[in-house]
Amino acid sequence: MFGVPVLKIKWPTLLGIVVMHLGVIFAPWTVSRSAVVVFVILQAMTTLGITLGYHRLLAHRSFQVPKWLEYLITVCGALAAQGGPIRWVATHRLHHAFSDRPQDPHSPTRGFWWAHMGWLFVYDELIDHPTKHWRYAPELAKDPVHRVITQTNILQQVLLGVFLFVLGGWPGVVWGMFVRTVFNWHCTWFVNSASHLWGYRRYDTGEGSRNNWWVALLTYGEGWHNNHHAYVHSAAHGLRWWELDLTYLTIRLLGVVKLATNIRLPRGKAAKFPPLPTDAGFAPQFTPSEPALVMAEFRLNE
Ligand SMILES: [Zn+2]
Ligand SMILES: [Zn+2]
Repeated sequence: MFGVPVLKIKWPTLLGIVVMHLGVIFAPWTVSRSAVVVFVILQAMTTLGITLGYHRLLAHRSFQVPKWLEYLITVCGALAAQGGPIRWVATHRLHHAFSDRPQDPHSPTRGFWWAHMGWLFVYDELIDHPTKHWRYAPELAKDPVHRVITQTNILQQVLLGVFLFVLGGWPGVVWGMFVRTVFNWHCTWFVNSASHLWGYRRYDTGEGSRNNWWVALLTYGEGWHNNHHAYVHSAAHGLRWWELDLTYLTIRLLGVVKLATNIRLPRGKAAKFPPLPTDAGFAPQFTPSEPALVMAEFRLNE
């Protein structure tokens, strides 16, 4: 009616995110050495679960690990409360396919807050309808373990909350659940917002991705996002010695102990994307090159 698109709000998601943020209010009154230790350990575990697990392993298959380890890392990612792996991977592949174009689930071309968190509250047929988003992560949708991890994602958060309460009482829940989850969320969300707005561009990738040092520090290397868009399958996102990439260092460590194999790295230059002579004057170019990238992902996973 009247030509105005009606946004369908996902109230449970909105409520969940608001409740988690409200829980952070209790942080100053519950802080203790043990609460901070729980925060630090779980923060590192769930951050790597997302960056090393959901992102570089599952979404891009930039290296391989034994199946038992893949499932274990996936559970670490699932405990970050960013949804199950199938939907996360599907959403991310759509982002690479349509970066900064209308079909991109979280482009800052619709504003910083939309890219940062607004998109999470609004129903999107492509990523919220199971039979639709499963098409973008077919190999995970076929895997019964990944399906179970996806379908029990909320239960996993509840069980972790109960475990933290038994372990450390209310301070354990506040720091291990509320503070840690909210901190982890905003770090991840900055990759979608800040790393598509602020930072330098080494490669002309045809969208607005940028290398942002402070996002890289917060997200164990994910802020080198322009490098990542240029070399989507690379296990390393930091491509200079000073581009610290803790996720890649962890993958290298797994490689040393023979748990990570077929670690993929950029080969030669990003031929499709010549380096930009200058950062100034960049404007998003909505070229049709991105679907080729996502199709490469699909072929890889077939
Ligand atoms: Zn990616
Ligand atoms: Zn991006």
